[in-house]
Amino acid sequence: MAEQGVKQVVFRYIQPATVLAIVLFWGLAPERLTTSAWTLLIAVGLCKLAILSLEQVNERHAAWRMTRTELLTDLFYVAMVYTLIRYARIHWGDPPVEAAKHAIGISTPWLEHAPFVLQVALVLFLFEFGQYWMHRAMHNWTPLWLVHAPHHYVTQLNALKGAVGNPIELFLISLGIVALFDFSLPALFCAAHVGTIVAAFAHANVRFDPPRWYSYVFTTIEHHSLHHSVDYESTRCNYANALIVVDRMCGTFHAGEAVEVGQDGRRRLSILDVMAFPFVPLVARFRNGRTAG
Ligand SMILES: [Zn+2]
Ligand SMILES: [Zn+2]
Repeated sequence: MAEQGVKQVVFRYIQPATVLAIVLFWGLAPERLTTSAWTLLIAVGLCKLAILSLEQVNERHAAWRMTRTELLTDLFYVAMVYTLIRYARIHWGDPPVEAAKHAIGISTPWLEHAPFVLQVALVLFLFEFGQYWMHRAMHNWTPLWLVHAPHHYVTQLNALKGAVGNPIELFLISLGIVALFDFSLPALFCAAHVGTIVAAFAHANVRFDPPRWYSYVFTTIEHHSLHHSVDYESTRCNYANALIVVDRMCGTFHAGEAVEVGQDGRRRLSILDVMAFPFVPLVARFRNGRTAG
């Protein structure tokens, strides 16, 4: 009984404690670590592994339990995010923002001397606010929905599912205007680390039951599972990846959670289906046109 109580308390505070530990790490670790992209990559990888192991200790739903097929598919998408999508963002996503920064003449060198926690909070908010509107647009405009929909076809949730999607969607959702400002590199890495791990928690098959203040600010599995509901109309809420407070601000927050997730009769898409998904209606229209002609 006492053991059960300890477990409950530990899981209740794991999410806020992790966010705090991430901020402390990037704020206090030696500069040679906090200015290296490798540190971010390794730290995110270790955190995701840790969350996957929490799924084994305090599972939320047996129907979401990791299988070999899910793990192998998910690892494919994780690898794609850290290679192809990262390359696309660095070469095609960031340069136009940097060019705009110089063209407009935005210069904020004082920002990198602002208190570390303030910089992290600002980066996270700026990035999340942009992501929120991109994600909301994806649920309101058919061409964008076609690239985002594959993420909603996942039939179970786990800590790696945030990476599952069509590459066009993953590229679009990685864009932001943070590069307009001169934040310090450790603050940028810290915000990316916090955002990625909160989103991993929000997809994880774990029973956390966090304190209310945490789920007021940060997205949790309750909020995000509702966003993955089987009927399309119920997905049009809780758009924020990591900061659910943005949904609260913009009037799209819905309380509750979903157990059954997926779309279209919970059809599971193969990797090939996910890649082809946005183009299927175009091909069908072309074929129909040819038949009609
Ligand atoms: Zn969505
Ligand atoms: Zn999701």
